[in-house]
Amino acid sequence: MSSTVSTKEELLGELSRLEVYFSDNNYNPKNRQATCNMNNSLTSTSKLLFCAPHALNHYRNNALKIADVFTGSLCQLLANNTGQSWLVSTSPDNKLEYLGFGQDYICQIENAVENGLMIVDVHGMSDQHNFDICIGTGPNPSIRTINFANKLVSELSDYKISINYPFNATAEHTITNFVQTKLSGDSIQIEIASRLRCADNNLNGCSVFLDDIVNFFVDQFRLS
Ligand SMILES: [Zn+2]
Repeated sequence: MSSTVSTKEELLGELSRLEVYFSDNNYNPKNRQATCNMNNSLTSTSKLLFCAPHALNHYRNNALKIADVFTGSLCQLLANNTGQSWLVSTSPDNKLEYLGFGQDYICQIENAVENGLMIVDVHGMSDQHNFDICIGTGPNPSIRTINFANKLVSELSDYKISINYPFNATAEHTITNFVQTKLSGDSIQIEIASRLRCADNNLNGCSVFLDDIVNFFVDQFRLS
């Protein structure tokens, strides 16, 4: 793979700096702002929207769920280093409408899909599943989604990657289900093990992974 402008150490430092925004109130929402984002979908050549719905503590079926830590920062880092767009839900609530992510978050997803962007829905999973990455292709995956899943598996071959196990993104509360069934758009769910994304615990493993995943996305845009 080609090297990025940023070194592994710089990527690790960037991730840690970006994560402070989410961690400094113990991953609870700080204000009423519904999303934070840099959405270039209308003005740039962005092809992907990296989104993180669970960067903060959130709700599912009225039950509080703990944040997928380092996913808000990872979305920003990936977008910053690949010229793509990102979107993070920063005001989750326990209402069923808008999937609990807020109207603004869902509107921005709709806007991105309308502009032809593929949604890359980034989540965190525990290390106990014994996979590094789990790709969920959702209930109605497009050819673009299937191709993208296969590319991830073949080009990140140093990692143990599963497709649709244990998370297949067919549940109705997922963004990938929403995009594929309600918007007829392209979406893929990517669950990343804690040991790869938590910069606090595994400096070397995390920095190598950041370098590999950034280079994977950079290479996709160079070829297309
Ligand atoms: Zn999640």
